[in-house]
Amino acid sequence: MDLRSALTRATERLAQEPVGPPRMAAETLLMHVLGCERAYLHAHSERELSAEEGARYDAVVTERASGKPLQYITGHQEFRGLDFKVSPAVLIPRPETEHLVEEALERLHKSGLTRPRIVDVGTGSGCVILALASELKDAELHATEISAEALSVASQNAEHLGLSGHVQFHQADLLACFTENSTFDLVVSNPPYVGLDERDKVQREVREHEPHVAVFAGEHGFDIYRRLIPEAARVLRPGGWLLMEIGYSISGPVEELLIGWEDVHFVPDLQGIPRVVVVKKPA
Ligand code: GLN
Repeated sequence: MDLRSALTRATERLAQEPVGPPRMAAETLLMHVLGCERAYLHAHSERELSAEEGARYDAVVTERASGKPLQYITGHQEFRGLDFKVSPAVLIPRPETEHLVEEALERLHKSGLTRPRIVDVGTGSGCVILALASELKDAELHATEISAEALSVASQNAEHLGLSGHVQFHQADLLACFTENSTFDLVVSNPPYVGLDERDKVQREVREHEPHVAVFAGEHGFDIYRRLIPEAARVLRPGGWLLMEIGYSISGPVEELLIGWEDVHFVPDLQGIPRVVVVKKPA
């Protein structure tokens, strides 16, 4: 079978399942199997697939048809122009999370600090801290993660992006590994924030394939904010910043947890939904 027919067949098959745009997925999976760029598929549409390539393509199309996210099949996701390896041990980096990185960079640039001390809590794939590391050569960067498996993905990403010397990774629950108080200039986190009571509202792919520890946070989604906010207050120096991604419709309850902080500011995403909260520890 040639590439064109293989793509058509896979597209038709994926179109029968509720798994997103079928043509795009069929192409991405074929690029993955052949180790090629998208342009190659079109330039060589008459090239025959070998039996082995055909079998591998069938296998990945079947995985996708069953709902496995494309990124867990290909093992990659782009974030802020960087290529991240992902596995089912980590949350797939989301474009919305880029707002968190942008806000952190903006605060740091305005602060004029020469060697800011920064920590990313629950780093997962490492996308947030490594995107920061790629732009902040003089910062002291730390990242924590409770899952050893996720931490290993983050370290591999640091290595692969040539940033391993820049970030110190710690296996820890939130900020428990930092026993000294008031030493950080900025704490950033995209914590789990989906409530178990919203289980049925999240996409099936997320519910069935992404790590529960990275997605769900107690009955209503606040369990991690409730613990992280006081922990961040402890490790931040006076005047330091806390930046967190927040879930759809939970800015109200999160704001209540931030009483006593200064300059509470919600940043909307491209759809106008409050997506990041930025607050300052009183000086
Ligand atoms: N910090 C990682 C990300 O933003 C992981 C977040 C998480 O696992 N909740 O993708």
